[in-house]
Amino acid sequence: MYIHIPFCLRKCPYCDFVSYPLSRGSPGSVQQYVDAVLQEASLRKDWLEAEGLMPEAFHSLYIGGGTPSLLGSRQIAQLLEGVTECFPFQPDAEVTLEANPGAICRDEMLAWRHLGINRLSLGVQSLDDCLLARLGRMHTAEEACQTVQEARRAGFANLSLDLMLGLPGQSIEQWQETLAGAVGLRPEHLSCYELTIEESTSYGRLQAQGKLALPPEDEVIAMLQWTRQYLTDSGYEHYEISNYALPGYRSRHNQIYWENRWYLGLGAAAFSYWDGRRWGSTADVEEYIHRVAVGSFPETYSERLDKKGQLGETIMLGLRLREGVSLADLEVRFGLSVWGIWEAEIAGLVEAGLLELSRGRLRLTDRGLLLASRVQAAFL
Ligand code: SF4
Repeated sequence: MYIHIPFCLRKCPYCDFVSYPLSRGSPGSVQQYVDAVLQEASLRKDWLEAEGLMPEAFHSLYIGGGTPSLLGSRQIAQLLEGVTECFPFQPDAEVTLEANPGAICRDEMLAWRHLGINRLSLGVQSLDDCLLARLGRMHTAEEACQTVQEARRAGFANLSLDLMLGLPGQSIEQWQETLAGAVGLRPEHLSCYELTIEESTSYGRLQAQGKLALPPEDEVIAMLQWTRQYLTDSGYEHYEISNYALPGYRSRHNQIYWENRWYLGLGAAAFSYWDGRRWGSTADVEEYIHRVAVGSFPETYSERLDKKGQLGETIMLGLRLREGVSLADLEVRFGLSVWGIWEAEIAGLVEAGLLELSRGRLRLTDRGLLLASRVQAAFL
């Protein structure tokens, strides 16, 4: 289960997530939003039960955004109590909260632990103060490190740090220092994302005006290759294109997405995939609150995929995982032959050195990792 909290203190110039700057002094709207998410949970519960689609138990809950750590502990408690009243969860469910470093005190973290949050995903992004300032982030490198230490003192034994590479003005050495500093904090999980520029963002506009100096492509490739080598040498498993984990600490929640299993999203702009249907809710917070208040689902998009579509998406997503996809498992799951549908595409990609087929599993080669989107597109 995913819950989207679409509020941030201010908008970062590169960000195209659905998040709105929270004007100070408007906690009422946040509370209205939390209430609306709980109303939506209740509507979804009734629907899942009526359709006979309620799962035995959800095995993960991810509260993302936005900046969910902006919510007060009382509001996080309301969300957790509300969804656990509506839906069954495994006793050992992975419960993640996204938080931004700085401005979080230990008492807050202790409260989160007591509420059942057992994993924090921290938006560190860089451990270089100049780059953090350029990214419009509101914390410093030192505050990021302090937040990790405070989280440890509060009892969090499962921390994930988000880092970004390929930033404007970033050298390979700066990236290496950030990564070394992050590894020194020994988080259980690291997500290393390459910055992508979206047209609708401030960075997108700067790029269109020729005012954004991004590192050249060969340097970004060198950063990616160095990342893989350094993190695997440091004991992390490279289990997904951008994600690394100490043994036993892969993100259970995100693996659901990459395996294209069912997930339920609650909140404005949240996406869901359930029983072969994908849907997305309105990104307009006011509209979201209004629609659930009158008992309607807040969906603005819905699509039912046929078996071939589901299979293609499952391959596309599964290729993000380093272990790739098992052709035999896919045939059992979808009743279709991968080989029968995409034989020519697979042969071409294997020939080009981008895919490899080994012991019944199809996976990206090291070269394919760098051209993943081109490979994935073949299955859509
Ligand atoms: S804090 Fe995260 S979600 Fe919020 S604007 Fe910045 S990048 Fe986007």
